[in-house]
Amino acid sequence: MIEFCPNCGTRLLMKRKKDTKEIVLSCPKCGYERQVESPILSPSRRVTEIKPEDHIVIIGEKEQKLKTLPVVTVECPKCGNNLAYVWQVQTRGADESSTQFFRCTKCGYTFREYS
Ligand SMILES: [Zn+2]
Ligand SMILES: [Zn+2]
Repeated sequence: MIEFCPNCGTRLLMKRKKDTKEIVLSCPKCGYERQVESPILSPSRRVTEIKPEDHIVIIGEKEQKLKTLPVVTVECPKCGNNLAYVWQVQTRGADESSTQFFRCTKCGYTFREYS
């Protein structure tokens, strides 16, 4: 960008003012000054990186309870999945040991322990 002084026609020089720190085009001959906006010296706008909002997973109360159950390796008779939640149910009135129940982690099929 070459600009010339409107007063005397001398080529203007870009310089930074000491007092105001402004970038000006100044004429070395007559002292004419014209303020310029330098895109180079203007602070570059930093693009703020927006973090994706934390993925909120809403877990139902029922599911939450299931999530706390231990998982065992047992084959689901329905879908053949090898993982199932396990819990024990004490049969009322029975002296026998509690019955183990499984719930398939894949299809949700509930089945008893094979005996
Ligand atoms: Zn001039
Ligand atoms: Zn299953």
